[in-house]
Parts: sequence; C-alpha cells; structure tokens
Amino acid sequence: MIRLTLKRGKEESLLRRHPWIFSGAIHRADGTPEEGDVVEVYTAGGDFIARGHCGIGSIAVRVLTFDPNEAIDRAFWERRIGAAYGVRRALGLVDSTDTTCYRLVHGEGDGLPGLVIDIYGTTAVVQAHSVGMYLAREEVAEALRAVYDSDNLTAVYDKSSGTIPPKSGIEAVDGYLWRADSAASGSVAAAEGFVLEGGNRFRANWEDGQKTGFFIDQRENRSLVARYARGKRVLNTFCYTGGFSVYALQGGATAVDSVDSSEKAVRLCTENMELAEPAVPHREIVADALAFVREMPAEAYDLVILDPPAFAKHHKVLGNALQGYRRLNAAALAKMPAGGILFTFSCSQAVSREQFRTAVFSAAASAGRRVRILHQLTQPADHPVNIYHPEGEYLKGLVLYVD
Ligand code: SAH
Repeated sequence: MIRLTLKRGKEESLLRRHPWIFSGAIHRADGTPEEGDVVEVYTAGGDFIARGHCGIGSIAVRVLTFDPNEAIDRAFWERRIGAAYGVRRALGLVDSTDTTCYRLVHGEGDGLPGLVIDIYGTTAVVQAHSVGMYLAREEVAEALRAVYDSDNLTAVYDKSSGTIPPKSGIEAVDGYLWRADSAASGSVAAAEGFVLEGGNRFRANWEDGQKTGFFIDQRENRSLVARYARGKRVLNTFCYTGGFSVYALQGGATAVDSVDSSEKAVRLCTENMELAEPAVPHREIVADALAFVREMPAEAYDLVILDPPAFAKHHKVLGNALQGYRRLNAAALAKMPAGGILFTFSCSQAVSREQFRTAVFSAAASAGRRVRILHQLTQPADHPVNIYHPEGEYLKGLVLYVD
C-alpha cells in the first residue's frame, strides 16, 4: 500500500479526527498513488495516522479509518454499513410503515466519506462522490446484501455518473449492481416506484431524478409546513418533486402554487400533487423563482417556501451566494402579508448557519419588515453530522413570522 507522509505539524486536524487531508499537507508519497487507491498516511515523525481513499483534487485523502489495525476489507464495509443501518433502525426508519425512503449512509456523517446511499422501498441507490468509493461500489453492494434481509432489499442501483469527480476521466454508466431474481423478472425493483413519506405518497425515480431521485433531507421540515398550512394560501418555490406542496395540502392549505424553473420538475410535482388528490386549487408554474416572487402581487400568499439549490458549491463564490440569499429573501419578505410565514432554506455547505442567518437578517432589514424567528431548522437524523466534521451540517432553515 502506498504511504504518504505529512509535512511536519500537519497531523493536527487528523488528531482531532477531521476526515479530510488536503494536498498541501502532504510532504511526499512513496510511489505514485492513483486516484481511488487506499493509501496509508504517516506523520513526519513516522507514526501511522490514517488510512483512506486517495483523490487528486484539493482533498488528497478521505479518511476511512484512524485505526492502524483496521483493514479496508469486506468486513470493514459490512461493519460501517451495518452501523449506519443500526442508527436508522434506532430512528424507526427501517421498519416504518408511513415512511419508506430514508438515507442509509451520509458520507462523513457515517464514517464513509464520499459515499451516499438512499433507500427507496427495497431499492438502495448508491452515489459515489469520490473515485475510491466508486471503485468500491461492488463491495458496498455486497455489504448491503449482508446487512439487509432479502425481504428488505431487492436491488442496488449505482447512480454515480453525475457525482464522481469529472476530472477522474472515468465514464461511469449508471445501472444496477445487483437485483434479486424476482426483481429482475418482475416489477419489484422497477426504475421508479412509489414511496411513502410521513404517510404521503410520492413517485420516486432514481434513474432520472436529480440527486438520488427525491429530496429526503426535507422530511421533517415538510411536516412542519403541514403544521402551519391550515387555512393558508401557500407558495412553494424551487418545488422540484413537490414535497412541500403535498404536505401543505395534507396540512389543510386552501390553495397551493408550486414554482420551478425546470419543466421536468414541475411535471413531477404535478404527478405527486395528483396522487394526493387535492380538493383545493393548485397551480404548477415553470418560472424563475426570483422573478416570480418579484412580480407576484403583494400579500398573495400567507405561507411561502424558499428552498433554492446550493448557491455556493465552493468558498470562492460565497459572496455571490450570500447576495443571492439576500435578494431572494428580501423579495419574498417584501410581499408577505402581516402574519405571513416564510420558510427559508440554504443547502450550501460553504454557507454557515450564522452567515445564512445574517443574509436573511439583511433581507428583513432591507424589506423593512418586523420578523420573528420561530424555528431554526436543519437536516434530519438520517443525515447525521460527524462531530469532527462540522462542514457536514449543510442544511439550514429558518421559519419566520412576518408582521
Ligand atoms: N424543495 C425541493 C428541493 C429543491 S431542489 C424538495 O423539497 O424536494 C432545487 C430546485 O430548484 C430544482 O428542482 C431546480 O430545478 C430548481 N431551480 C433551480 N434554479 C431555479 C430558479 N432560478 N428558479 C426556480 N427554480 C429553480
């Protein structure tokens, strides 16, 4: 195994168990590691410090273990995936009858940097965000089969083509890593299926959808929308598959409008709204959300949801991202009636909770509104944060009451 030696003193963050080693911290490599190789990392003094996947970007190593005696073998994958499964079982997600989709593995949060696994019914959708995880996908699929009963897992689908680093040169093709015999011949593991979330039915399509098909991370925040929706006219911007819209209906909204710039997203939203058999008017609108909010009449909605895509994927564009949040929130706040409720989110990892709050604060000030923060929201427990990797806390939300 190739050995990397750190520059003197560069082990500090690793001693605090931060799972990333940046390329600038590496002094030398004994041999030429290839992207995706498992490498061993030593301090300048020659002590073992970590074993992990080698990358060629700014993150040179994603740490899999700090234990010198823990090999990255079949037992490793089973142990880590088994532990992640144990957490979801403890959360009540594995056996839930009203929620059939959840995140099983959340990268660093589950000690598996670069790996995401979402469960849709009995299909596991695997996304590798690093070459190392991509190369390990068959072992991951085997570990999944070892961890789950055959009743609970009928297929493992690899959806890494859009997530592995483009510079790796690997031309990944998405497809099934494994399917139970009955699934191969029947309809058990079709490319799409219905999932339940909080008792609401959604069509999830892991072959065509964004991310792994459905945004699971808003589950708890959606049920909070349901709690506030009674008797309200609701606007759901950046609606994608319409999760918030469906919960708004469930919660007793009197009308729901859903906006997304993608025609495909709006179609998915429409399908999910139809499954919910709405008894109140709903409209799906293809539009730029900021333009829509700026042009809509004042006081048209009592409850508004702003859930944009990550404005800042990197720290370099942080300034622009914060500006984006300020503009969007100011436009929405300016249009709220007195007593209106705004759900506003940021899923940019590069934007801290504090920075997001400050951006919304500036927006409130520039809209000249009196605003109370009712709730501070985050990602649900099946998207856990590794305490040594605070960057993993990516989803931030505020529920505001506007006077
Ligand atoms: N709220 C959704 C997830 C939002 S994902 C849920 O709960 O599932 C972000 C969505 O924003 C995507 O569907 C994308 O098509 C849409 N989007 C991106 N840019 C947009 C823009 N400028 N205006 C409106 N929608 C946009």
